[in-house]
Amino acid sequence: MSFQFCVLGSGSSGNSVAIWDDETLFLVDAGFSCKETVRRLDLAGLDANDLDTIFISHEHSDHINGARVLNKRFSPRVLSTEPVHEWLDLKYAVITEPELEPGKVQKIGNFKVTPFEVPHDVSQTVGFKIQNNGRKLIIATDLGHVTARLRQKFMDADALVLESNHDVQMLKDGKYPYFLKKRILGKQGHLSNEQSAEVIANVITEKTKHILLAHLSQDNNVPEKALAESKKELKKVTGRRIEIIPASQFEISKIINV
Ligand SMILES: [Zn+2]
Ligand SMILES: [Zn+2]
Repeated sequence: MSFQFCVLGSGSSGNSVAIWDDETLFLVDAGFSCKETVRRLDLAGLDANDLDTIFISHEHSDHINGARVLNKRFSPRVLSTEPVHEWLDLKYAVITEPELEPGKVQKIGNFKVTPFEVPHDVSQTVGFKIQNNGRKLIIATDLGHVTARLRQKFMDADALVLESNHDVQMLKDGKYPYFLKKRILGKQGHLSNEQSAEVIANVITEKTKHILLAHLSQDNNVPEKALAESKKELKKVTGRRIEIIPASQFEISKIINV
């Protein structure tokens, strides 16, 4: 049973990850327009008609932009937590089913998808533990810091998609207004390259084969800096070399066999 995934794109203009096996295809977030999602799925050799479910992490537009139209055209279920459901209903007319609860397993084909809460500045944000055939993929973008409880969840993943949002110095020197800088740097904001690198180096185990850096800021980061930081920390803490892939806003990632 092949358990595969592809980051269709990641960053402040849109986030979406396609995950599938021989029987089931689903998305974590739908931040691109329906048309763009269809195009990127096609690039990965996937068909939007096969979409079973869209799991929504939270209500920020870079995670939900395409959900309504994708749902209308291809009828996947769109699942979110209750607070996100209420918020989306109110503001965006995106109708989600409020089925997700942190810690509650959702079964979808051969997959088990378990949301877990992460600290971010909206009604509720979740990351996802995705299991199939004894393998584990973790997806966590949009989180201000990583608690001990979260580290425990990230441990032992076969594949880890973790935010590496900004270079702190670039953000501080950059053009963003003070309140936004403060938000991004805060405990409910986004992970810096340094924070992400430290977490990666300390949660990977022998099982971990794939690391993708996600949600890189186009204004306050460059892939080279994110990559250099995580490679440096990984080498320092574990002495290991694992392929680390910075996900792009503009291109799909390679297809990963979990
Ligand atoms: Zn986001
Ligand atoms: Zn967000």
